[in-house]
Amino acid sequence: MESVKTMPSAGTAPVPPPAFHVMMKPRGAICNLDCKYCYFLSKEALYPGSRFRMGEDLLEEYTRQYIEAQQVPEVTFAWQGGEPTLMGLDFFKRAVELQQKYRKPGMRIYNAFQTNGVLLNDDWGRFFHEHDFLIGISIDGPEDIHDFYRVDKGGQPTFRRVMAGLEILKKHRVEFNVLTTVHAANAPHPLRVYRFLRDEAGARFIQFIPIVERDNGTGFQEGDRVTERSVTGRQYGEFLCAIFDEWVRRDVGRVFVQIFDVALAAWSGHRPGLCVFEETCGNALALEHNGDLYSCDHFVEPNYRLGNIQEIPLVEMVASPQQRQFGLDKRETLPRYCRECEVRFVCNGGCPKNRFITTPDGEPGLNYLCEGYRLFFNHIDRPMRIMAAELQAHRPPANVMGILAREEAELQRRLARAQRNDPCPCGSGRKFKHCHGRGVKVASRS
Ligand code: SF4
Ligand code: SF4
Repeated sequence: MESVKTMPSAGTAPVPPPAFHVMMKPRGAICNLDCKYCYFLSKEALYPGSRFRMGEDLLEEYTRQYIEAQQVPEVTFAWQGGEPTLMGLDFFKRAVELQQKYRKPGMRIYNAFQTNGVLLNDDWGRFFHEHDFLIGISIDGPEDIHDFYRVDKGGQPTFRRVMAGLEILKKHRVEFNVLTTVHAANAPHPLRVYRFLRDEAGARFIQFIPIVERDNGTGFQEGDRVTERSVTGRQYGEFLCAIFDEWVRRDVGRVFVQIFDVALAAWSGHRPGLCVFEETCGNALALEHNGDLYSCDHFVEPNYRLGNIQEIPLVEMVASPQQRQFGLDKRETLPRYCRECEVRFVCNGGCPKNRFITTPDGEPGLNYLCEGYRLFFNHIDRPMRIMAAELQAHRPPANVMGILAREEAELQRRLARAQRNDPCPCGSGRKFKHCHGRGVKVASRS
């Protein structure tokens, strides 16, 4: 495998960021499921003949270097896969011991653990509770929707086993969030998916991750064709709009949807707080089972391998010109179309992994999801302005629900009084008879 090592030269060592994240993949891409859209599974081919198991020595080396490199009082270890529960519980017991061994005075250490939930049992539940792990569990919607792509190695459905895993988390009062991928099978059913997650799964923190799966046979971020399982930009936008419209009328402050939080931060003048929507990135790397470090979890491929933490200190690779440039490229390669876009302040062109289409005037580098982002971010503008104003006035953004309810009641009153040829009270600029009054018989009041 080609190795791209970028060592800083003596005397010009770049300064590392004060904090950065690493997605740890202690079993590499190995998983007990065979989800049809999973981009990790093809990564096995990068390490032919490997056992895909991080050894304890390497775990200790990583823990030491990772903690040492962080210049902030809170540090999060992020466990990913493949499926991290396949390492077995003892590995994580050791991980927690090592974290305590290397913890700096006053430093708080957290663990975030992404799982498909299938192997969870009481032992895992007790351990997660005892050590305050935050669990991300992958659920794509109600049973028929979830099982469409999320199957095991034998092609069998997984929904019931995942829900049993979720029950374990609840039983042991483990904090969890739900990660829902949005793809061709669930994109047409936004409210079924959202209501299921909210009312039946009991999720209070939800992420909706778009599936944009390249159809190129390499598993790498190359080419501009996507599989039929992928969501289209428009579908993704419409999916988010439909859920937002329900959320903003009844769930604000009760259910937290990551992209809505990101948007509120941006409308309030803060940084979005999620790499996908930041101007630059490069501070969320991925560590393979053998110590190889990559620029990002979405770029575990030879050209983005920075080196191995057993040969080059982690902090040097994070600070390397190659990695800094990787992060700056997010802003520097933004097409003019994005630079002039009215929602750039929140979108920032999205994740570079999805920037493989051309703008209407032919410039490369536009995000495949652009149509959806633009639709969604414009759609939520008014409620976001209301929520941002509430925050600014030190009032809860949840007040938006009452404000919108009063506005909608007033609109209904005005619609009920409107005449056929009146301007529509909704403010569309069209006549009532061509807008909300279409097909409505209005008794003449003259
Ligand atoms: S490439 Fe995408 S996912 Fe990776 S760090 Fe940058 S924005 Fe985040
Ligand atoms: S909505 Fe589209 S044009 Fe606007 S910043 Fe995002 S990707 Fe670029």
